[in-house]
Amino acid sequence: MNQTKIGKVLHYINGQFVESVSGRVFQNINPFSNEPINEVAEGFAEDIDLAVQAARNAFDHGPWRTMSVNERMKYIIKIAELIEKNAEEISYLESLDSGLPIAQTKKQAERAAQNFRFYAEMVKSRLVGESYQVDNSFINYTIHKPVGVAGLITPWNAPFMLETWKVAPTLATGNTCILKPAEWSPLTANKLAEIIHESGLPQGVFNVVHGYGETCGAPLVAHPSVQLISFTGETTTGSAIIKNGADTLKRYSMELGGKSPAIVFEDADLNTALDAVVWQIFSFNGERCTANSRLLIHESIHDQFVDKLKERLQNIVVGDPLDPATEVGPLIHRVHYENVMRYIDIASKEGAEVISAPIPAEFNAGNYVAPTIILNANNQMTVAQEEIFGPVLTVIPFSTDEEALRIANDCKYGLAGYIWTNDIKRGHRMAQAIDCGMVWLNSQNVRDLRTPFGGSKASGIGREGGHYGFEFYTETQIVHVALDEQHIPAFGKKKV
Ligand code: NAD
Repeated sequence: MNQTKIGKVLHYINGQFVESVSGRVFQNINPFSNEPINEVAEGFAEDIDLAVQAARNAFDHGPWRTMSVNERMKYIIKIAELIEKNAEEISYLESLDSGLPIAQTKKQAERAAQNFRFYAEMVKSRLVGESYQVDNSFINYTIHKPVGVAGLITPWNAPFMLETWKVAPTLATGNTCILKPAEWSPLTANKLAEIIHESGLPQGVFNVVHGYGETCGAPLVAHPSVQLISFTGETTTGSAIIKNGADTLKRYSMELGGKSPAIVFEDADLNTALDAVVWQIFSFNGERCTANSRLLIHESIHDQFVDKLKERLQNIVVGDPLDPATEVGPLIHRVHYENVMRYIDIASKEGAEVISAPIPAEFNAGNYVAPTIILNANNQMTVAQEEIFGPVLTVIPFSTDEEALRIANDCKYGLAGYIWTNDIKRGHRMAQAIDCGMVWLNSQNVRDLRTPFGGSKASGIGREGGHYGFEFYTETQIVHVALDEQHIPAFGKKKV
């Protein structure tokens, strides 16, 4: 499809779009053609330093944290309105930049705007303290304050939604921030900066610095004036960030990788389970943290379910991400494509059977990985243990509930789990026994914004979303007040 000409992307620091101090740029590559889309300013420690100074100054001296909540929420709502107004362009830029099918990025702006609207409401209702009246001589009460300068580091899968997922609660609670978006998908982060600029947000409150993880993300993490890091990305990056930030003691939220099981029992509604399993592994090109990348299927229905999976595989529409009919597009980057292909190769070498959908030859230039299922697999195989982050489903049979649970939990990750059964007791029993942050029982990935989001084990630390997000982005302070003077021991008065 024809591509609109996209200009150079700059950093957004202290209310202005600026070049890097070094003047350096990197190329942003189209995953469909592997041709350059545009140039992006490449940030380093000195650019991060400027952005942190701007955010620090805006936090310490600007009007942002001290203005009334109602006043602050006017900006937050304005940002939501502007996102809604620009929804079509956001969806186009997202698909162009990341290869996500446009039919699936269509709702991203709507969902992103909801993040702002939700936190505008949440903060108003949540900015209430508790008071503890001990007796007539004391009263203690709590207040919630912003934490300070936040570093927000985001990945390239669903970039716009994930950026707003962090920016909305950060700003609504009165913090200032620096967003470091993923280097492979800078376009919608830039659009967010344009939108926030148009909203009239006080300068320095929101900043964006583009660049690579180790040269731009790492200085943000190590910066002594940054008090909070909200990170979404790979587990190994999360570990590196915690190590790097240790000397400057920060608050972290870590939303990391996953290898989530879907357990399909013989008594499930198999057609619905099939729809969900297929959607949850092949939508968003399989580049989805909560993808059900391990299918645990009861042995009695294994063959019939796999036959239906194979049929679906043949009919999946692989195509141009800008074509509304496309169901699976190209992966984000050639490097990631090669990594996913390497896993498929490992599966064959470890003795599994690999079955892939056909890809039309016209898409040879793009980073297309065929939707793939891996059969004759067991849970010890590399493709059952490691996050592939592509359209690859590993299928493992089981015979008893205990075996299904053992396989589900025998993995370092614990982000999500999906259970398909019509036995309500079994469903709840399994849901509660799976070691992970989020379980969907006879459902797929639908969630209310009030609910907590996050993983256990190697999938994360902490929860965001709902009031969990509010708590992460605020400090709770206690104020102890004496109502009389009788409570102070009179040291040093006796001799007199
Ligand atoms: P990544 O860890 O490679 O990169 C994420 C971000 O971290 C990028 O902005 C990158 O530049 C930055 N970064 C890299 N090294 C850094 C360093 N040393 N210091 C500071 N910043 C650094 O992840 P990715 O490949 O962009 O995203 C895919 C991963 O994200 C998958 O593992 C996926 O499961 C995970 N993810 C998790 C969730 C969740 O909510 N749990 C949601 C989406 C994606």
